[in-house]
Amino acid sequence: MTMNLSTEVRMIKGVGPQRAELLAQRGIHTLEDLLGYLPFRYEDRIHFSRVKDIQPNGVYTIRARVMSGQAVRTMRGRDAIYHLLVQDEAGGLLPVKFFHGGYLEGRLKPGQLLILHGKAEIDKLRPARLEMINPQIEVLSNEELDSTEVGRIVPIYEAIGTFGSRQIRRAMYAAVQLIDQRMPDVLPEALRARLGFPTRGEALIHTHFPEPGESLDALNTFRSPAQQRLIFEEFFLYQLSLALDRKASRKENAIAFRLREDAIREALKRILPFKPTAAQKRVLAEIAADLEKPAPMNRLLQGDVGSGKTIIALQAAVIAIENGAQAALMAPTEILAVQHFLSARRILAKAGYRVEMLISGLKSAEKSAALDRIRSGEAQLVIGTHALIEDNVAFARLGFVAIDEQHRFGVLQRKRLMDKAAALGHAPHVLVLTATPIPRTLSLTLYGDLDVSVLDELPPGRTPIVTRMTTQQHLPGVWEFLRREVAAGHQAYVVYPVIEESKLELKAAMEEFERLSREVFPKLKLGLLHGRLSSDEKEEVMQRFRKNEAQILVATTVVEVGVDVPNATVMVIEHAERFGLSQLHQLRGRIGRGARKSHCILVAPFRMTDEARARLETMVRTSNGFEIAETDLLLRGPGEFFGTRQAGNLGFHIANPLRDKELLELARREAFALAADSAQQDAMQRLLRLLPSEWQRRYHLARIG
Ligand code: ADP
Ligand code: MG
Repeated sequence: MTMNLSTEVRMIKGVGPQRAELLAQRGIHTLEDLLGYLPFRYEDRIHFSRVKDIQPNGVYTIRARVMSGQAVRTMRGRDAIYHLLVQDEAGGLLPVKFFHGGYLEGRLKPGQLLILHGKAEIDKLRPARLEMINPQIEVLSNEELDSTEVGRIVPIYEAIGTFGSRQIRRAMYAAVQLIDQRMPDVLPEALRARLGFPTRGEALIHTHFPEPGESLDALNTFRSPAQQRLIFEEFFLYQLSLALDRKASRKENAIAFRLREDAIREALKRILPFKPTAAQKRVLAEIAADLEKPAPMNRLLQGDVGSGKTIIALQAAVIAIENGAQAALMAPTEILAVQHFLSARRILAKAGYRVEMLISGLKSAEKSAALDRIRSGEAQLVIGTHALIEDNVAFARLGFVAIDEQHRFGVLQRKRLMDKAAALGHAPHVLVLTATPIPRTLSLTLYGDLDVSVLDELPPGRTPIVTRMTTQQHLPGVWEFLRREVAAGHQAYVVYPVIEESKLELKAAMEEFERLSREVFPKLKLGLLHGRLSSDEKEEVMQRFRKNEAQILVATTVVEVGVDVPNATVMVIEHAERFGLSQLHQLRGRIGRGARKSHCILVAPFRMTDEARARLETMVRTSNGFEIAETDLLLRGPGEFFGTRQAGNLGFHIANPLRDKELLELARREAFALAADSAQQDAMQRLLRLLPSEWQRRYHLARIG
């Protein structure tokens, strides 16, 4: 039978219908898709480490036989720890523990040959001994060791359901036999040759099964020539779609606002409730220069939590309104939208501007009245959530759009808000606000053509926040500290992780609230805020807290974004190990907003993963948002950093904008040069058909938008 790149995966040896089903759920349907599923690391299975040579905290690959194995139930009864003892060829004995290891019961048999990969740790009970905890293991079939298992540098894949790394490797081995080093390439040949990259076929083959002599270190840091070629390819195609985006949007018209009139300058000054920082002034000038042009502004405003982005968005809105246009501000949560609405009304209403709020929690009569005012143009600034991008929302003359906390919205949502103006025959000026500082390379990758303004200065009068880590055992002391702060007139947050808002987790937060109210702080007033409350209920809780009618706000992460109560000076985060770094930084940003010294207390168990510990230590060490964002990226990679929605939109398999900065810059230069070269339009059209579908969609949207 002949095979080609579009052959269905189930035809490939080692796949079959059931596994094809699993692969399909991951979007892998063809031989080519399968080849795009790349190893995330490699093991040297030519030179195994010997048990007697291992050192604490080193990471090793060991080949050894099972001596004994046994699952031991823990006290709670549900979990089991699986204790395994293995011996290598040189006779070295190594104890291994698997937490939550009950599933291994009966699956490992004495005499079986295993490959173990993991970190050697000191046995806490017997410090003279080393052990491995939860290493990755692979059972070798004793009899028929084939070349995909040992004797080479072996690729390790992330399992797909029950389709394990080892079985994927076997199928992949069959798959690479079917392709030719001369398979069609997506890079123009002249470009490939000039940059000295291997062909696409060579690169795929050697990324899955490295050539003899390739450096393990290079492979594990994604620096082998084969990997670099594939990384470049992803960046190149993506940047090409951005370059075409830019070409298309250059052709769109926006309303060129007049700014120089005294009336407008006066208006901008009049609304300011405080003296702007130098950074705020500079950024406003950058924005104003864009707004004067007939091409749409496309600007990212980056500023750490508390740096004062809101007022800038409001000033830009005033420029639009003074020019007879409407402005919209979209926020990711209702709490934040309400808060923006309250401060916008406070700041703008006294100057006579009409501010409207649109959230899904509005009663239907209120909502339709609001929609009418938006449609007629009576509403000058509209503040809301996703409700703003619903189909029934129409503007009379939308000229300026601000989107807060951009990384929580997908590219498509931003696009939909912009389309509200496109319906009127022009493009809006767009300002994207983000508190998650994004390294330049990454913002280039994500947003391509956004110009960037940075607020690198905090408003005066802030005192630094003291952050420390503690364990649950010390909670009584933490509560005592809270009592003292409250006695001094201040307020506090206590945050619990409710990640999925599942019933069980929510119950935990509610029970803690009850317990704190009854047993720990019987004399104080507490509020409880979580995502399952209705908008009215949430607003009521926030109102009480704002007015200091509740001194302690027990909350889930719904307080994470934007909430601004300057009298709050303590943030206690329970199970801090379960939060991501940028989440922790956002949470901490809720305090330190007044003149009083603020305290952030991270409560975590004694035992946690290295990564969790690294996160918490970063929090203790620094409150610099840039440093935190960089660390977060390094710890988690860009996909998770931006949350699944945004990462899904990006669709990189192997490229990592932070790690692969140089390749990104190179790809960007080459892609933009190609897009600008009119002699190359045919080649480009061919390339575009090869773009992954999510990139095609993006490109398509840009064209019709
Ligand atoms: P963020 O950048 O996190 O959105 P905000 O816009 O919410 O920050 O501002 C944080 C707080 O700082 C608000 O209470 C705001 O009123 C205040 N603020 C902003 N700019 C200044 C300034 N120049 N001087 C004094 N206070 C300011
Ligand atoms: Mg904000």
